[in-house]
Amino acid sequence: MSEPTSSTGADVYDVVIVGAGPAGLTAGIYTSRGRLKAACLERNMAGGQIALTDLVENYPGFPEGISGFDLSQKMKEQAEKFGVEMREIEGVSELRTDPEGCHVVVTDRGEIRTRTVILAPGVEPRRSGIPGEAEFIGRGVSWCATCDGALYRGRTVAVIGGGDSAVEEGMFLTKFADKVYLVHRRDELRAAEIAQERAFANPRFEFVWDSIPKRIDGAEMVEALEVENVKTGEGRTLPVNGVFMYIGQLPNTTWLKGTVELDEYGYIVTDGLMRTSLPGVFACGDARANPLKQIAMAVGEGALAAVQAERYLDALESSPGMKSAAGDGAAAAGTQR
Ligand code: NDP
Repeated sequence: MSEPTSSTGADVYDVVIVGAGPAGLTAGIYTSRGRLKAACLERNMAGGQIALTDLVENYPGFPEGISGFDLSQKMKEQAEKFGVEMREIEGVSELRTDPEGCHVVVTDRGEIRTRTVILAPGVEPRRSGIPGEAEFIGRGVSWCATCDGALYRGRTVAVIGGGDSAVEEGMFLTKFADKVYLVHRRDELRAAEIAQERAFANPRFEFVWDSIPKRIDGAEMVEALEVENVKTGEGRTLPVNGVFMYIGQLPNTTWLKGTVELDEYGYIVTDGLMRTSLPGVFACGDARANPLKQIAMAVGEGALAAVQAERYLDALESSPGMKSAAGDGAAAAGTQR
């Protein structure tokens, strides 16, 4: 297979993808298969949130389910097979445009010039900010049941939250822990019905309704979680060895403030074709303002963003005299927001 080359020179990429979760990896598969010179940057290891998921049951093609780690590895393999330059452990801190109109992606290893950018930075778990949370990280406080669950064999843990993550990861924890308290601020779960049914049928779960976490205590390791009933104001101390927080997610977009339009929660705003407010810059996946945070959605958005980036580059090529990506390219593509 021949090496894809950028039409504007070896040092300028056709597309730089920021983030190697399902959205970014799919964009990598499509752009590199389209013979674009593409790099995919990831501040951690490829995979994003799914790499931390025990079992993915609702991604088509895997009737038995597949481990999130295996799925993400397969996606990465597929992108690399078509030639994407995978750059893991390389964080991005800034996106700007140079005087020639090229996008410049600033990373902790240097700067990369590119004609288009696909933003797929994903989300990270929200922190509660309660006393003890920061102090006991790695000593009983965790956001990853898949990573840390096995440490709690025969022990007692609390899971905070009532969404899909809390219920599914709590379910996973029951494989190890003798008891899992699920602490939720309402008396009704937000998680999908099938997940709820399984959790209600699991004797290792104890639901602590209408309650919020107030404080995590312990000496060396976590020993207790104090919760408060929001209806009665009553306090309760749960004797736990671990606390797993699943109270929602925050988009990894603070570095994009002032560069592309974000919504009030920090999610990247695009049109239906994944185009951001900045010409030549597209966005996809969980960090995009969309109504469904699912792998299937991220994969579809990644494909669409890649095809749009390709079309944008085609428009640049077919417009005589157009040299710049971000400046004149917008006019060349004609339609970016
Ligand atoms: P969600 O935002 O869906 O749920 C967060 C939960 O935390 C809610 O129950 C919320 O309560 C509670 N919460 C929020 N803030 C606080 C707080 N300060 N104190 C206490 N509790 C709080 O996040 P998830 O991480 O569960 O899921 C994110 C997205 O990913 C969702 O769209 C979900 O459907 C998807 N997902 C899908 C999976 C699948 O399909 N298999 C697996 C995992 C995630 P309240 O309900 O009262 O708002």
